[in-house]
Amino acid sequence: MNHLKNNLLPEMVEIWQQTLNWQPTTQQQEQFQQLYQLILAGNRQLNLTRITESEDFWEKHLWDSLRGIAPKQQFIPSLQAGASVIDIGTGAGFPGLPLAIIAVNSKIVLLDSTRKKINFIEQIITTLALTNAQTLVGRAEEIGQQIQHRQSYDLAVIRAVGTAAACAEYTLPLVKTGGLAVIYRGNWTEEETTTLQNAANQLGGVIESIEEFTTPITNSIRHCIYLRKVVNTPAIFPRAVGIPTQNPL
Ligand code: SAH
Repeated sequence: MNHLKNNLLPEMVEIWQQTLNWQPTTQQQEQFQQLYQLILAGNRQLNLTRITESEDFWEKHLWDSLRGIAPKQQFIPSLQAGASVIDIGTGAGFPGLPLAIIAVNSKIVLLDSTRKKINFIEQIITTLALTNAQTLVGRAEEIGQQIQHRQSYDLAVIRAVGTAAACAEYTLPLVKTGGLAVIYRGNWTEEETTTLQNAANQLGGVIESIEEFTTPITNSIRHCIYLRKVVNTPAIFPRAVGIPTQNPL
């Protein structure tokens, strides 16, 4: 019985309502639960996540993923209208899979350089019947230079992939002019703002806003940085594989 109880995700209807001014439908709640169970099962073979306890999973994977796309407690409007979205370095599918569950009109591309993680995500997409989600194996540095992907997304999201400057170089080349890149972070410093401003500037973006908040259960600190793409990214970016981290902007 204990085992069963631990595998049940809390619903947290009130917290969703208070923090994001939103609640999952019954179907979305079922998809969250399925996602949780599939990741627990997948974790036995693949090293997907250390966040496995149900409340932790709810807060640090589900809530955190959706909070990032809801600046000022409202989901980014284009997500409802049908945006084209890419999650770079999605790992076990965060923040991309929760986005795909809530933004049914949008197309979500889940990119990771690790084939076995993408294979696992493929199984999740099939089981959850997420017809709006697609996977892509590759490095952000290569995908960002491909004509079919470059400057073609309304929104790019990135969590726990690298320094802010590297995240800017991975995301901004993929975003359309006028589109948005969201960088999910824990702590954040003034110094990082200066570095990121400089990197974004070279890539055709500006820092539109920085939101600081705490997670609703454990009060952990979070920051989301919103970069607006204002002009085309120069053709030299993203640079070759490895360069954005070895020689950051
Ligand atoms: N975004 C997820 C996973 C973070 S772990 C989460 O927040 O839980 C970082 C992931 O990024 C790994 O799965 C790794 O394979 C991938 N990754 C790192 N550098 C990358 C790159 N340059 N292009 C594509 N994927 C990358």
